[in-house]
Amino acid sequence: MADAVVVPANVLGVRYDITIRRGLLGEAGDMFQALSRSKKAAIVTDSHVGPRYAGALVESLRKSGVEAIVATIPAGEDNKTLANISPVYDALLGAKIERTTPVLALGGGLVGDMAGFVAATVLRGLPFIQVPTTLLAMVDASVGGKTGVNHWTGKNLIGAFHQPIAVLIDPDVLATLPEREIRGGLAECIKHDIIRDAEGFAAMERAIADNGTGIGPASGHARHGQDARATRIEYLANLVAHNVAIKAKVVEADPFEKGERAHLNFGHTFGHAIETISHYDYSHGECVALGMTAAVRAATDLGMIDEASRRRIVALIEKTGLPVRGLRLDTQAVVEAMIFDKKVKGGRIRFVLPDRIGHVVIRDDVPPEIVTAAVESLR
Ligand code: NAD
Repeated sequence: MADAVVVPANVLGVRYDITIRRGLLGEAGDMFQALSRSKKAAIVTDSHVGPRYAGALVESLRKSGVEAIVATIPAGEDNKTLANISPVYDALLGAKIERTTPVLALGGGLVGDMAGFVAATVLRGLPFIQVPTTLLAMVDASVGGKTGVNHWTGKNLIGAFHQPIAVLIDPDVLATLPEREIRGGLAECIKHDIIRDAEGFAAMERAIADNGTGIGPASGHARHGQDARATRIEYLANLVAHNVAIKAKVVEADPFEKGERAHLNFGHTFGHAIETISHYDYSHGECVALGMTAAVRAATDLGMIDEASRRRIVALIEKTGLPVRGLRLDTQAVVEAMIFDKKVKGGRIRFVLPDRIGHVVIRDDVPPEIVTAAVESLR
């Protein structure tokens, strides 16, 4: 990917570009100038990403005549709290930011959600630029305008919708992202293709089978050497472009999750329950992988999708290095956790289930024994 790929998004009348280009971090200053006349910027990052990448961003902005302050949040989901927002307000207001000062979120979904919430609330709203650095944030969290923090009673319970004015993606930063985080992002990519794009799914199957991408079962070999690493980043860069386009389309059609945006919850109903009951022993991506596996089992048992498609889905998840079995949790506890999920409407659990690869429907009439069998099949 020598040239930039630009994916336009148009959410609630707010139009913005998602730009994907290798090496973009070093050119962010130029892009900033095209977006804002402000001579100030506020970068929000976390304690892992900041030391690696904030310097390059600050320097690039400085070359364009923009002075940036950096506010750092401690890394880790436990830190996604209102208490950790407060020092960011202090840093920004202490630096005398103005209504026109853009906030740049440099980090994964955690930083994107928290910085976005800051941008939505400080001085009643500042321009917001997403600079996602995890695969999950690139393909999912940076697009759609959901921002916020966790509350002790549950995840993402305090927040606001605040659309970015731009999303700037430099896939080169994925070189330092831990393997488990890469796989977490790949789980969301598989999800996108199952809900929307059968051809994308087939392309991913081919790419994973061909170890040249450095993602599949023999990725241990493929990761060694400069060429292999470059091929891998190149593959991921194209995958990001494909996936942000899917996410943007879904969000454009349903910005407030009143209808089809719920399709993005495919795998998440089972997945969230597993996440809760396992006390976060599994990563979010691993829970989504297990959740998709359970959901497609339920869809098969309901006669919605054929067994051959189910096998293809499970095989792709597994070849990506994500779990599809081996769950050692109490089945009934997982089922009960689903009933307590905040997205349950009127006591009926809404499942997003595929009726073919590339298409899903919402069902709230899945018999309890099929739900139980689906969880049981993950053992
Ligand atoms: P994360 O932001 O916690 O990042 C995971 C880890 O990777 C962290 O330790 C981080 O410091 C580190 N990291 C980030 N980029 C790196 C890089 N390039 N090199 C090395 N290390 C790097 O996790 P995530 O998976 O990106 O995001 C999860 C969060 O996103 C959750 O809080 C979730 O609620 C939220 N989310 C939001 C949306 C949305 O629509 N707003 C969608 C999905 C998820």
